[in-house]
Amino acid sequence: MFIEPSVRRSGAHDRKGQLEVICGSMFSGKTEELIRRLNRAKIARLKVEIFKPKIDTRYHEEEVVSHNENSIRSTPVDFAEDILLLSGNCDVVGIDEVQFFDDRIVSVVTQLANQGKRVIMAGLDMDFEGQPFEPMPKLMAVAEYVSKVHAICMKCGDLAAFSLRLSDSKQKVMLGEHSIYEARCRKCFFEDKR
Ligand SMILES: [Zn+2]
Repeated sequence: MFIEPSVRRSGAHDRKGQLEVICGSMFSGKTEELIRRLNRAKIARLKVEIFKPKIDTRYHEEEVVSHNENSIRSTPVDFAEDILLLSGNCDVVGIDEVQFFDDRIVSVVTQLANQGKRVIMAGLDMDFEGQPFEPMPKLMAVAEYVSKVHAICMKCGDLAAFSLRLSDSKQKVMLGEHSIYEARCRKCFFEDKR
């Protein structure tokens, strides 16, 4: 369980920013963990803004929605730079599905943290072939805190870190995860990978 090093500091001037990455496979609870941290920041009376890339339109346009229906309102953006323009004077910036941004997100979140903001990102760390999902490796490298959360293998019940695609498509981004993907442990993933 992630414990905030210091969620509340006295003045804006002595506030140090920081980067946090929550990563894992599909069905691992990444978004739930993001929402948990953001709700705690709200309790601490910090100003929170949440963004997600426009590509993810599986559910409501305006909301970060996790699969247990526990949701927070968010702003869909086209480009990473939009977050710089829209995060204004907030204290905490949440970003869901951060793997869908391009490499420019690395410099954007670095600038936000250097302005004194706490930036919490949730994203898929591997694609359906078990390869690193860029830009997650870079974000994990520059972050102060990285939390890897795990799903449960839908075949054997062990801890799962991989997302198995059940269809034959080789397209990197395929939305609609409930019908197309299953969480798998290492053994079951490489046995069943197409
Ligand atoms: Zn398994």
